[in-house]
This record gives sequence, C-alpha cells and structure tokens, in this order.
Amino acid sequence: MDISQIINELGEDREHYFNAVAPPILQTSNFTFKKVADLTKAFEDEMGGYLYSRGLNPTVDILRKKLAALDGAEDCLVFNNGAAAIFAGIFANIKSGDHIVSVAKPYTWVQRMFDVILPRFNVTVTYIDGTQIENWINATNDNTSFYYLESPNSWDFALQPIRHVAAFARSRGITTLIDNSYCTPLYQKPIEMGIDMAMQTATKYIGGHSDTLGGVLSGTHAMMEKIFNSEYLNIGSGIQPFNAWLMIRGLRTLPARLERITKTTAEVVAFMKQHPKVESILFPHDESFPQYALAKEQMKGACGLFTFTLKSDKREDIVLFCESLQHFMMAVSWGGHESLVIPKCAGIPVKDFDATNKEHKYIRVYTGLEDAAYLIKDLEGALGKI
Ligand SMILES: *Cc1c(COP(=O)(O)O)cnc(C)c1O
Repeated sequence: MDISQIINELGEDREHYFNAVAPPILQTSNFTFKKVADLTKAFEDEMGGYLYSRGLNPTVDILRKKLAALDGAEDCLVFNNGAAAIFAGIFANIKSGDHIVSVAKPYTWVQRMFDVILPRFNVTVTYIDGTQIENWINATNDNTSFYYLESPNSWDFALQPIRHVAAFARSRGITTLIDNSYCTPLYQKPIEMGIDMAMQTATKYIGGHSDTLGGVLSGTHAMMEKIFNSEYLNIGSGIQPFNAWLMIRGLRTLPARLERITKTTAEVVAFMKQHPKVESILFPHDESFPQYALAKEQMKGACGLFTFTLKSDKREDIVLFCESLQHFMMAVSWGGHESLVIPKCAGIPVKDFDATNKEHKYIRVYTGLEDAAYLIKDLEGALGKI
C-alpha cells in the first residue's frame, strides 16, 4: 500500500464519526455489552473486540493499523513507550535457562533489563560486536533462543548485516527483535529482511514534537496475539487513547519531516566535516563511515542523529562547546522539532573521563526542523569558543 494512503486513510472510518477528518479520541476505560454471550466472547478473545482499554481501544487501533502497514507486518502493538515494547517482546519469548545474544551497548534500558532483571530469572546474555555474522554464529549455544539487534545503534551507529543474522536465526529457530528507531520503517524495513519483530520508539520521529511517549512492536498476528494476551495486558503498558491520537497526528507529517531533516543533517554534517576543530564524525550515510556500503544497502535514508569528537582531549572543551550553543538544546531523546546536543561524558564520572577512550569524547547531535544555516551558525559559534 502507498505510504500516503497508509498515513491518510488506512484504519480510518470517517463515516462512523460525522465525516470528521481527524479521528475521535475514544477516551473510555470500558465498553458495554447487551448480551451475556457477547461478554463471554470478549473474555475468551479479548483481542477480537473492545472490552477494556488496558487491552484494545478504537483510537489506538487506527494507529496500530497504520504502523503495522508501515512496517510491512501483519500486526503490531503500541505501547506506552519504547522501553515497554522491547520488554514485552523479549519477556514473552524467553524462559528460565535460555540464552540471549545481543549487540554490544544496546539502548540503556535494554542493557538494564539484561544485566539486572533477566539474571534473576536464570536467563543469560552474551554481548557481541554485531557487525559480523560470524560473531552471531560463534556466540550461539544450544540454549540460545533470542537475538537482540539494534541497527544502527543510536550513538556509534554500528550496523548488523540484518538479512544474514535473520536467516541464520531462522535456521536455528531463534526469535529475533530489532530496535529500528533510528531509521523508522520509512528508511528501513527489518520485517521484510526476515526479522521476527521490529520495534521503534514512537516517542522520537513518529510523535515528532517531543510531547508524548509511545513504542511500537510489529510482527506476525500470532506473535502479537501471544504478547497481547500475556505481557501487554499484564504489565498494562499499552498507549493511552489521547497519546495514540497525538501519534496519528504526528504520522501525518512524518515523511515531510524526515525529508527535511535528512536534507538539513547532510548540510550540517558537511559543515562539521570540514571544520578544523572537529576530529572525526560518525554518520551512517557519510562515505567515511566504516560500514558505509552496508548502510547504503540496508537503509534507504539516514538522518537526524550524528556523533562527532573535538580535536581536543580536554573534558572542559566538550563542556564549553555544549554550553556555548545558543539554539541547540541539551537534552536526552531526539526525533522532535528541536535540535539537540548531548555529550557522552555527562554519563561518566568526571574522575573516570579518559580521552584515550574515544567514546568518552562523543558528542551526539540531533538536527531538528530548524533552518540548516541557523543551526550551522550556532555550531560554528560554539566551535569557535574551543
Ligand atoms: C528512546 C529510545 C528507546 C526507548 O524509547 P522510549 O519511548 O523512550 O521508551 C529505545 N531505543 C532507542 C534507540 C531510543 O533512542
């Protein structure tokens, strides 16, 4: 189906709500029944209708249909945030004694789940450099039941050869889940590459305005139903109707925003690359990127986030740069209208800062919807202070 049709029409049933262009927010906790038999049916198959909004809700369903179609998946579930989507996708598919192979340095709360929560349930995790298929194969044991991918990573943009990893996992009956947040399904379609579950945080590009959280998990209907009937209903982590409505609104402009951000990011990256104070730059669709060929093959686009290092080994210079910016705001998250900066060293105790560890010098930039010239001028001013 055409992306425009998915975004503007799919899942919407305007004749049922006064031909309004925008869908209603079905702000209700419960749904009524006239017949006991219908109530019984709803208890037996909660995913088959509307019973209670911890489960399905009509406003949320409009969003579900659109997001599943964008992912090229049979179905999807929309959670209250991305972390919840990942948690449910993993938890529903592992049991005590299982082993997970994961990319090194996954998203913070995934790592926390792997390091703190799963050991309590006798599930072990091996972190690997996921860039090479051999590393996945070598890390796989008899009890390996799950592969966790994040391509690209949101700090160093390391990629996995998705098709190869998916094919090997399938041959071993291993379930795969990928964090596709950087690309969104507009720029990368992991389900079509053989991955079982594609996750993205809707907080970032889908919402697009830094005003609400959400998380998407796509896959087969059978998989979504299994997760719905266990983790989704049990944890109660589904998105609320108003937030789903904001996501539908965000989706309307997603292609236009990504197009604009892609163009702006390319201009900003080009400026940063030639600047004498900039030591190195990491951006998947830049020719200097170590996995440039794979990035071009797997990802239709790259935008928004890039990471760079200063030609300086002093932590104070990183601090001075970040604090000198007038328009880029310093904050976590990304994908909104506003440009952001975040230094890796903010999360490292000052006494542990080690300039020989390149990661400690990382400064991540997110380019939002402002004018490229306006952003470049701001970066130029802050670099000039170093
Ligand atoms: C923000 C983020 C998440 C988590 O999403 P939330 O909606 O904040 O829970 C997961 N993965 C990546 C890469 C992210 O940037």
